[in-house]
Amino acid sequence: MTVRVLSDIIESNVFVCEKGGNFIIFDAGAKLDEVQKVIRNISQTLPGGADKKDKFDAKNPQNEAFCEKNAKNESAAGKVLGVFLTHAHYDHAFYALDYAKVFGCKVYASEFAKEYLPDAGKNYSEGKLSITDFSDFEFLHGDGRLRLGDFDVEYFALGGHSKSDVCFRVDDEIFVGDVLIGRDMGRVDLYGGSKDGMKKSLQKLVDLKYSIMHSGHGEDNTKFSQDKVAKLWLRFLNR
Ligand SMILES: [Zn+2]
Repeated sequence: MTVRVLSDIIESNVFVCEKGGNFIIFDAGAKLDEVQKVIRNISQTLPGGADKKDKFDAKNPQNEAFCEKNAKNESAAGKVLGVFLTHAHYDHAFYALDYAKVFGCKVYASEFAKEYLPDAGKNYSEGKLSITDFSDFEFLHGDGRLRLGDFDVEYFALGGHSKSDVCFRVDDEIFVGDVLIGRDMGRVDLYGGSKDGMKKSLQKLVDLKYSIMHSGHGEDNTKFSQDKVAKLWLRFLNR
C-alpha cells in the first residue's frame, strides 16, 4: 500500500509505503506529524490495528501488547524501516533527519547528496537546510538493491535534474523524484542539472519495467503514459 502525503514546501510529495505492518518512506518534504498521522491511519486498518481493539477480545494478549506498545510510543504505530531520498533538493529532503531520529531508521540517498545537503545554495533552501552530520545516512552508489523487512528496494542512479537523482523501485511502483513530473520533464537548469544526464535518465525510465510512476510533485501516472512523455522529451532533447 502506498499513500501520498502532500508537503507544504512547494507541494512536494512524500510517499508512505506499508508492507507486513512495516513502513518505508520516500522523500521528506512533509512535516513529521503529517507523516505520523498517515502511518497511524494505515496501522489502524491492519490486522491487530487499534480500531479492531473493541471488536476483538481485549484480553487477547496480541491485541493488548499492540495497544500497549502504541500507547507508549505514538510513532510506533508501525515500524519505519528507512527513508529514501529521490534527490537532495530541500523540498524533498528538509525533514529527513527529523524522520530518522524519531523513527530510528537510516536515510538512504545518492552519494552525490553529500554535496547538496550541507549547501543551502545547492539544495535551494535559501539558508534553511544544511545537514553536515551524516551519521544517520547511508549513501547509495550506482544501481543496486536493498532488503528491508518485506521490502525489496531497487535503486537506479539517475541525473539531469540534479547529480543526486535516484529512482527507486518497489514491486512494480517507481519513485522518480523530479526527473519526470506528469507531462513535464524536470528542470535541467539547476545546480548539477544537465540535458545529457536527463537524456540518460529518460531512456533508463523507458527501459525500466514498472506499472505506476510516483513523481516528486503531482499525481501518479502509468508506465503507458510516461513512456510516451519520456520519448517526447527525448526527441526534444535530441534536436
Ligand atoms: Zn528537485
